[in-house]
Amino acid sequence: MRIVGTLICLGNGILVEVDGRRYRLDPRRTTVDDTNVISHAHTDHIPRSFKTLDVTCSEITRDFASERCRKDLRAIKDDHVELVDAGHIPGSTMCRISGSRRVVYTGDFCVRSKTHTDGAKPLSCEVLVMEATYGKPRYRFPDHSEVVSAMKDWVSEVLHSGSSAILLSYPLGKSQELASIFREFPIFFHPAIASYNRILRTHGFDIPSEPFEDIKGGSPIVYVSSGLGKDSSRVQTMRKRGAKTAAFSGWAVDGMFGGRSSYVDRAFPLSDHCGYDELLWFVKRCAPEVVYTVHGFAREFAGSIRSELGIDARPLIANQRMIDQF
Ligand SMILES: [Zn+2]
Ligand SMILES: [Zn+2]
Repeated sequence: MRIVGTLICLGNGILVEVDGRRYRLDPRRTTVDDTNVISHAHTDHIPRSFKTLDVTCSEITRDFASERCRKDLRAIKDDHVELVDAGHIPGSTMCRISGSRRVVYTGDFCVRSKTHTDGAKPLSCEVLVMEATYGKPRYRFPDHSEVVSAMKDWVSEVLHSGSSAILLSYPLGKSQELASIFREFPIFFHPAIASYNRILRTHGFDIPSEPFEDIKGGSPIVYVSSGLGKDSSRVQTMRKRGAKTAAFSGWAVDGMFGGRSSYVDRAFPLSDHCGYDELLWFVKRCAPEVVYTVHGFAREFAGSIRSELGIDARPLIANQRMIDQF
């Protein structure tokens, strides 16, 4: 039986069917007969296996994802899919699928402006599929510029005291933001981050990309490490020589980097996602008939949309088919 209306289903990414056309949003496996949309190149959003290398995404996402998957992906256009800046990381996009009902998928998104983006703008639609990572009222983030000036003050102090500053960061997204923010400082990167920065330079981003060569003595530097774990022996060595560490995450609001065992000296609430009130603002401006939430506090935030905005909302649950008939 042909389905009239819109079908939304979680499983191998998010399957959306509009007017009989099928779209796979951030699929784990690309499929030949569907349009495969990749919102951005974070590992939980890019495919692990490929039946086709044709994907619908921005050119920056294609290059990052090709590097991460070790495949030569081809970015192809789809007449029914409009891609717009999601404000999350360089290259990240939301998509609006056109048809008898318009479906918007946000991927991960952020409405606050940053050095590389003015932030995501609401898109009018009938069906909104959105992330709800920070979908609880306790998560409200300060202005980007406020966080940036606090970060610059801290790094300047550390360097003036004669120590190096280690910035612990996700290799894709936040590291490039840090590269822009601290471009006037003597800044060096973990090799993986340096290679992403080089990709962005080919797209016209004017950011530093100098890989870190172990310095013996010399003047203090800013080092962007690829987060806790993988790079820990170098970070430990630098700490023994007096370097200070900072971490950057929305979860800093929870004080998650505190505690005696932590080797994070300072944490800044620098997030690539929307806070709670920004999520609500975005929904209101998109003015959808129904919202499906994914990631993080999906269930809680669907409840907030219903009670605060009076809009129908539910979390997307794996393998449960949602069919809207209109
Ligand atoms: Zn992401
Ligand atoms: Zn994500």
